[in-house]
Amino acid sequence: MDKIAILCSGGDVSGMNPALKRFVEYAYAKNMQPFFVYNGYEGLIDDKIHEAHYEDVAGIMTRGGTKIRSARSERFKESKYRALAAENLRQKGITKLVVLGGDGSFRGMERFHDETGIAFCGIPSTIDNDINGTDYCLGVDTALNVIKNAIDSIRDTASSFRRAFIIEIMGRNCGYLALVSAITSGAEMCLIPEIPIDIHEYKECFESQIRKGRDYFIAIVSEGLKNADDVAQWFEKDLGFESRVSVLGHIQRGGNPSVFDRLMAYQFVTHAIDALVTGNNNSIICYSKSHFNFKSITEVALHAYHLDEALLTLGREQFAPSHCQM
Ligand code: ADP
Repeated sequence: MDKIAILCSGGDVSGMNPALKRFVEYAYAKNMQPFFVYNGYEGLIDDKIHEAHYEDVAGIMTRGGTKIRSARSERFKESKYRALAAENLRQKGITKLVVLGGDGSFRGMERFHDETGIAFCGIPSTIDNDINGTDYCLGVDTALNVIKNAIDSIRDTASSFRRAFIIEIMGRNCGYLALVSAITSGAEMCLIPEIPIDIHEYKECFESQIRKGRDYFIAIVSEGLKNADDVAQWFEKDLGFESRVSVLGHIQRGGNPSVFDRLMAYQFVTHAIDALVTGNNNSIICYSKSHFNFKSITEVALHAYHLDEALLTLGREQFAPSHCQM
């Protein structure tokens, strides 16, 4: 019986547990013995590699995070530890590996594959949605829904207290989460690294809106800009509007996986296992232009991601100070 393992590396996302469930069920369906590697690459090095059974994945569909835990591993960057990791897999007869992670994890996997020949398929998993070559990364939809609920709740209190709320959204240097959240929550302002805006240009328009009775503002800012406090000060000093900063933080990574993430997890894992079974030994399963396709690690991990130009155009139009409705 062929043996196949799965691990989660880097930041966890909601959708990893549905992926684990599909992994176990589909491996058995393909007549393979599934294994879990606990704690990411750390677990590979420390031999935390165990057979996975149906009972291990019972009831996990509804849970965020990952049952087999994720980790970052400094040791995996050293070849002697990668050799140890490969030896642990070989001793158990495991020849195939599915990795849920981001571009950093894939860079590690590329070196691992080159040195050891162990077959591998990567599944892009990060709420930041900042991996080149794929339009979608596992966990993004759940994160967007968590953010939507948070902003909707903040809007309730903002309007009751006549306040400006500056809401900081995750995404490292990628503004995807912030932009989509700003558009879909009806925010007044959206500041992301990809769209430079001088907030002072909003002054005249916002003052006019306040005179006409506007009693709250929602401003979405991307964590990459590190300027939430400055924006809050601007509302206080330039507009005389009481303001609060709300950093959503890690709640964005958790929560009950959305229907879309459950379905994407199912499809990503199915394609990953199919690829490994048919001898595609070294690729990332991507989702672009509504289709699944395989890309090389080099294309995915070594090239910078650029936010979709069509979405950016919408963002520029929606949030340009010159388009602000007085
Ligand atoms: P993500 O996969 O979410 O981008 P990281 O960038 O933190 O997360 O990478 C996760 C892990 O991948 C690192 O802790 C390390 O073990 C491994 N890794 C990243 N880059 C390399 C590399 N160049 N060589 C070997 N391992 C790497």
